[in-house]
Amino acid sequence: MTVKVKARISETGQLVSAANNDDWALVHPSTGRGPDMYCPDSDDRCRSKLIAVEKQNKTKGTVTRFFRFPKNSRRCTHAEVEHGVEVRSTPTASGGESDEHLWLKQFVLDVAQRCGYAAELEHSLPGVRADVWVPGATRARVEVQRVPTDIPTRTGDYPDVVWLLRETAITQSTKKYLFGSPCVQVRISKKLARTTETILIPGRPWEGDTEVEISASATVLHLRHGPHVVPGEKFFETHPIPLEKFLRQVWSGERVWYPRGTAHSFAGWVLATEYERYQQWLKAQQDIQHALRAVNAAIDERADRPARPDPAPAHPGPAPSQPAPAPTPTTPSDPATLAARHPAADKGNLTQTAQSALVMQQPEPDWMQWIDLQLSPDVPNGWWKRLKKRLRVGRRQ
Ligand SMILES: [Zn+2]
Repeated sequence: MTVKVKARISETGQLVSAANNDDWALVHPSTGRGPDMYCPDSDDRCRSKLIAVEKQNKTKGTVTRFFRFPKNSRRCTHAEVEHGVEVRSTPTASGGESDEHLWLKQFVLDVAQRCGYAAELEHSLPGVRADVWVPGATRARVEVQRVPTDIPTRTGDYPDVVWLLRETAITQSTKKYLFGSPCVQVRISKKLARTTETILIPGRPWEGDTEVEISASATVLHLRHGPHVVPGEKFFETHPIPLEKFLRQVWSGERVWYPRGTAHSFAGWVLATEYERYQQWLKAQQDIQHALRAVNAAIDERADRPARPDPAPAHPGPAPSQPAPAPTPTTPSDPATLAARHPAADKGNLTQTAQSALVMQQPEPDWMQWIDLQLSPDVPNGWWKRLKKRLRVGRRQ
């Protein structure tokens, strides 16, 4: 029998080997279905499908791993070998968990215990089992994920969770979960000193790498630095922080997960103090918009008034109850247009128009003082300049 011992993952093009334990855990998971795969040949762009299989050799206590074609599918002879890869059969309590998964769970447990939590591994909850359980913490359930999975389904009945996703869990079809569910990407890297530079390469501490950097990335949101945010730009940006720091902040409630569209265009983790500043900034933007609308409305009202002074503004007091004054021949507004702009005119009630006109006759409109009082360091100068320019233009008319 000829078989293959290498394959390529359809979605990522990643080359996987039956001899590599981590690769095998990825393509032959103990539960659920592995990713779609095809022939490892890349020269001929062969797309023959492959599946990962294990054959138990009970008497020898070994397992043979190899890739074969699904039944009735296209076959090819690329990269064929005589035998699969034979490994020792090592059934453990953790089933098919890879060394990487076990290592990362232990890392999270160690951090939790250093924080003083009575944390434990594999804790049973209603309907689910937490990889790491951190009682008393916000997001007490921690899940480590290194193969693609349906995060919302797996979240199940216990949504107070933080998902730690490895790169291998994030594919075209699952990255929506990273940016839509309480997930963070975990990167593990180590420095490689070369003659002229130091570069970062993936670290594998579970295989003995030391001095690795473990970071939380992709959905860790920070206030933007530098000049103040201008309208249309994002208030937050994302950059990595050490995973330990991230977990401490999340468990203590300092860093909070906000769903898609609340703090940022995608879901992410924001310091509560920074979210508060964002809310204040939003409020300031709304106040500016409100002021602009009030100003524009006042300017429009004045433009609509007949060229001759209306007698009503000279006598502020009880609302005039007489019918709407007929427009003078010189005004471009015909009665129909006026009525459309001021539905109240239909009912013979011009109270609102008259009051707005009064406001505009004051030498220094109140809202100019209001604007000056509202100056806040969180609002860029450009905004005020443009707003004030708009107001001056309006007043000259
Ligand atoms: Zn092939």
